[in-house]
Amino acid sequence: MTVTHVKHLGLAVMDQTTAFDVVVIGGGHAGCEAAAASARLGASTALLTLAADKIGVMSCNPAIGGLGKGHLVREVDALDGLMGRVADQAGIQFRMLNRKKGPAVRGPRTQADRKLYREGMQSALKAQQNLSIIEGEAEDLLIVDGEVAGVTLADGSTIDCRSIVLTTGTFLRGVIHIGDRQFSAGRMNEKPSLGLSKTLERFGFQLGRLKTGTPARLDGRTIDWAGIDRQEADVHPVPFSFMTNKITVPQIACGVTRTTQHTHDIIAANIQRSAMYSGNISSVGPRYCPSVEDKIVRFADRDSHQIFLEPEGLDDHTVYPNGISTSLPEEVQAAFIATIPGLENATILQPGYAIEYDHIDPRELEQTLETKRVPGLFLAGQINGTTGYEEAAAQGLVAGLNAARRAGGSDGVRFSRADSYIGVLIDDLTTRGVSEPYRMFTSRAEFRLSLRADNADVRLTPLAIDLGCISIERKMRFETWTLDLLDARSLLRNTIPSRAELEVLSVAPRRDGAQKSVFDLLSHPDTSIAEFSKAIPSLGEIPARLHETLEIEAVYAVYLERQSSAASQLRREEERLIPADFDYSSLPGLSNELKRKLSLAKPLSIAHANKIEGMTPAAIALILSKLKRRLTAQEVLSA
Ligand code: FAD
Repeated sequence: MTVTHVKHLGLAVMDQTTAFDVVVIGGGHAGCEAAAASARLGASTALLTLAADKIGVMSCNPAIGGLGKGHLVREVDALDGLMGRVADQAGIQFRMLNRKKGPAVRGPRTQADRKLYREGMQSALKAQQNLSIIEGEAEDLLIVDGEVAGVTLADGSTIDCRSIVLTTGTFLRGVIHIGDRQFSAGRMNEKPSLGLSKTLERFGFQLGRLKTGTPARLDGRTIDWAGIDRQEADVHPVPFSFMTNKITVPQIACGVTRTTQHTHDIIAANIQRSAMYSGNISSVGPRYCPSVEDKIVRFADRDSHQIFLEPEGLDDHTVYPNGISTSLPEEVQAAFIATIPGLENATILQPGYAIEYDHIDPRELEQTLETKRVPGLFLAGQINGTTGYEEAAAQGLVAGLNAARRAGGSDGVRFSRADSYIGVLIDDLTTRGVSEPYRMFTSRAEFRLSLRADNADVRLTPLAIDLGCISIERKMRFETWTLDLLDARSLLRNTIPSRAELEVLSVAPRRDGAQKSVFDLLSHPDTSIAEFSKAIPSLGEIPARLHETLEIEAVYAVYLERQSSAASQLRREEERLIPADFDYSSLPGLSNELKRKLSLAKPLSIAHANKIEGMTPAAIALILSKLKRRLTAQEVLSA
């Protein structure tokens, strides 16, 4: 195949290469991680996106992390991804959410300066070796002998490649709704992507429609800040990235206000003019991120809803009113916003809107995020029915790694739900599909005591080292950190406080005379390594950066032991793969209902089969016994 003219613009230094191992389509949160991960593995990678200066744009809220989402950012970082590092350079209000609750459900979050985030992401990509950035519109995919061979651009040029990662976000046949006004767009002021939807339909993919929405943007200079509450940043901001020593970006407060009865009355009186309620939008939106119209209808008994007024940057007057996303007509938006304390005179810079877009049923994907229909085609981000930057980044990283490995002839990498939220996310998507935009919560992880934000590096960086997708600097830092952690852990386990030391610590010795180590004693609430060090000076050698991890380990030790056997069983089940041609119809004893469900779902493993609705232990035993017979027959044949 010959490659015609390719328009090289943008950030990276361009060479004359017009064929790449991997082409990533889309420069959103999935695309950035996919391109960087692929390039880190050494694959020659192109990031093809509609507008190079929009790479890393936050389409909606100016924030990274949060409950469940913060875990994903830490995991992306543990695999040497970009999101955490860039958020550390752009974060203007770091807060650890759920600080008063158990460590497993704490969620690191920061509001981000939009410009700093975008610039940080663009310079991280610019610095990445093996990565070229191409500005252009992917119009079609080139498939030769059923496999990915390249991309055709809207200007008629083509790029050859072995793998493609498609990360088009909300752009596929995107339509914006504001009241009864509708127009095609991928995001406000950006054109939609039309050609690729047709391509995907041509290959037989089932496309669905989902929707999401965003609030109006306000001019902060017209807000009465004196009349509303403030929420401050944490005094000691905790970075996302293992590689960040300290947050140096100035931290700011945001405003907190509430809707009033008057706000609700205006919205209720105009509800039929909202695109959501007029019948103009029939697709489903994120249940956990409802529009203000939804809140008023679904929670009619509440007379007020909280709104956070989040500045979009240190030198930007734009304010994002978090909590009032809407698709009401502009004049209704202006009327209801004026009823909110502090916003009486606020100027609207951009109206709120809803957007509908195409997505693919993620059950079309392998756990590597490669599509089952078109070998070499990987999908990541909002196109798979998720919502949120962090969910997109996590998928992008996995798809980028696997696209590069495929191009290099290696097997795919799968993430277990026993080891990571990334595994939970991909497993949920590929086995259950989506009926509404999917977002991450800690409650989705059955092993959440061990899948904590604080230990993401311990869980995943060794894998990143094996895969070779990690910088030397991080590898060395991690190895030093691990040795320090092992030393500190053994010091805590082997230090048995004397009676005198216990007295200093006001800890009563056990009546049965049994001796407890400092590690055991740390499982009690209100104890800390710092406190113990006062009585036992040798503990002072433990670096402060390890305290939190060790204290959490001590508190959870008993539960973690229990969880680890359940996690091992899940890992074993995940490893028992079921061949794609497995014939369920010939299994005697299996109900017709289960035969139908299994034949349709084609579970990849016993773990997947186990999740199918109505599955029973007896049915699993039948599948296992047939798998065993198949293996024995194959062994005989190959002997
Ligand atoms: P995006 O960030 O959308 O990036 C897509 C990229 O693909 C863009 O760079 C685009 O230029 C490029 N592209 C598209 N088509 C082509 C093509 N043919 N050729 C080349 N490049 C192409 N998330 C939440 O968690 N909560 C919310 O409340 C929320 N509200 C939202 C409201 C709105 C209006 C929008 C637009 C998004 C909202 N989101 C929300 C979603 C969040 O923005 C996305 O989940 C996230 O950005 C998805 O990342 P992505 O990488 O999949 O896609």
